Amino acid sequence: MKKNHNNTDLHMHSTASDGGYRPEVLLQKCKEVGLEYIALTDHDTTSGVKEAIETGRKLGITVIPGIEFSTKYNGKSVHILGYGLDYNNEELCEMLKGQQEMRRKRLDVILVKLKDVGLDVTAEDVLEFVDGGSIGRPHVAKALIKRGYVNDVAEAFEKYLAEGRPCYVPKEKEMAPEEALNWIKRMNGVSIIAHPVYYDLDDWIETLVVDYGLDGVEVYHRDHTTEDRKHYEQLVQQIEEKHNISLLKTGGSDFHHEDYGRVPEPLGITRLDNYFAEQLVTKIHKKSR
Ligand code: AMP
Ligand code: ZN
Ligand code: FE
Ligand code: FE
Repeated sequence: MKKNHNNTDLHMHSTASDGGYRPEVLLQKCKEVGLEYIALTDHDTTSGVKEAIETGRKLGITVIPGIEFSTKYNGKSVHILGYGLDYNNEELCEMLKGQQEMRRKRLDVILVKLKDVGLDVTAEDVLEFVDGGSIGRPHVAKALIKRGYVNDVAEAFEKYLAEGRPCYVPKEKEMAPEEALNWIKRMNGVSIIAHPVYYDLDDWIETLVVDYGLDGVEVYHRDHTTEDRKHYEQLVQQIEEKHNISLLKTGGSDFHHEDYGRVPEPLGITRLDNYFAEQLVTKIHKKSR
């Protein structure tokens, strides 16, 4: 029987940011569905990575250290993934601590806006769901559910928290994508633009590659249709041929929790061939040499 090698997921969240499971539990769940390579990519923090790696070691899963930087480009939210970076670096951790503090202050502004529309939620209600890392809107959504104001996370976003809704608060001093790329480079990591279908900025991806050293594109994200995947495969190929370089293609489920979307989403439904993890690991090794 042919062995199944579709056991890679390079985009996952834990309670270090807005995921629903702590790294240890997340890894146990990855084991149950037969994943062999995963990357933990929490928003603006690497605080879950150590636990993930240690648990992965026990379970026989290769855990690639990662992070997902929140950045802003022309007023649009853009996520940049960093892999294999020096996640314990003091300077990096100090900068990320600043991001966490900014998120904490933003929470207070969100709470005021919720009050303005008649929803009474306290910081304690929200912090109950936070595990010491990055506070995000999904934590606020959980507090709204607990208070009985909404039925699920999706409803909380649609009614109140999404961009353009009444209680949306942009992050202050969000870094530019180029800054995130610089951090990843300085920390010997590999940089990937996350879920590009969210932005519609193809020409600019080429600029990031050529001028700022972007290493690749998340071609196989959960929210990418078959068409999108083809499109980004072609984009990658075009950039490669035009500039005579080679880029990485990555992908993953962007798993947070089964119940965050309208439709329950089991862990392990977006799987990549292990080839993509191996390519990524090879590139990481080259960077850290
Ligand atoms: P924040 O970092 O606070 O801006 O929150 C962003 C995170 O919220 C994203 O990474 C997703 O995990 C989650 N999110 C964004 N939009 C939605 C939505 N419509 N439904 C559920 N979760 C969402
Ligand atoms: Zn998230
Ligand atoms: Fe993202
Ligand atoms: Fe993500």
